[in-house]
Amino acid sequence: MRDIDRSVGAVLGSAAGDALGAPFEFGFPGVFRERFPDGVGELCGGGGWDPGEATDDTQMAVLVGESLLEQGGVDLPDLFDRFRRWAAADPKDIGLQTEQVLLGGDPWDLAAALHFQVNGRAAGNGSLMRASTSAVYFASRGRVETMDAARRISGLTHGDGAAWEGTAILHELIRVALLGEDPVAAVPATLAEVDAAHRERWSTVLAPGWHPDDATEFNGAVWPCLGSAVWALRTTGSFEEALAAAVDLGGDTDTVAAVTGMLAGAVYGAGAIPVRWTSSLHVPLPGFDDRVLRADDLRELATALASGPAA
Ligand SMILES: [Mg+2]
Repeated sequence: MRDIDRSVGAVLGSAAGDALGAPFEFGFPGVFRERFPDGVGELCGGGGWDPGEATDDTQMAVLVGESLLEQGGVDLPDLFDRFRRWAAADPKDIGLQTEQVLLGGDPWDLAAALHFQVNGRAAGNGSLMRASTSAVYFASRGRVETMDAARRISGLTHGDGAAWEGTAILHELIRVALLGEDPVAAVPATLAEVDAAHRERWSTVLAPGWHPDDATEFNGAVWPCLGSAVWALRTTGSFEEALAAAVDLGGDTDTVAAVTGMLAGAVYGAGAIPVRWTSSLHVPLPGFDDRVLRADDLRELATALASGPAA
């Protein structure tokens, strides 16, 4: 039985990680612990972000969640329209690849594939970062369906199957965590469901002995991003410690922490997220009438999503 506290934990935990990591984006490893030597990190703001302000990761996750609820399931043209409306409203941050796909003028069903064809690179972490809401929504449908939904939503902006498979893995690990089981223990069974062409590379970064220092790409890429999030979960014992470990890696800190926060929030539940973080948390939604969601709005969204698609 999935409990609501874990579903809220996944959505709220990801938003908190996003806001915690945002001020440290593109920084060096170790900067976070240098700033907070006693280990009690704060949503301190900086680098253009207000304290508690969530970035594109959470903004896009909200758009995914609202589309799923209002359309009663995955409606890719609707979701693409929402993404485009948001991207056109000049959000403070947007992934390069996501921006090119959304604002390139190509139709929803061709844009990502054309971008991949032209650029040859489309394995950014941009579809991992927004997966909290869809992972909660599809969890009740079981492994095959949640992994398939993840691939379809990922493919809207990312043409590389590596991103689809990574997002599918993340959906499945969250499904397991929402059941109260250990997502790290579920990695081998999950890898068995990954497209064979991508399995080896995913197996490498999700192996028990893998460390973020072993990464062969910047953690803005899909493999080290999810690998680092699973590492942070595996090597710590609380929500707060997992997020501190993720942000302290440096690099694409908001997204690595957003992904870590999804997993850790599903494992430890919303009750494990410090109140001093959720109290200042807020999610501006450019393009949508200047709406700003607070922690209670995210709780409400997660609770509605946890009911899943109508049977
Ligand atoms: Mg971001």
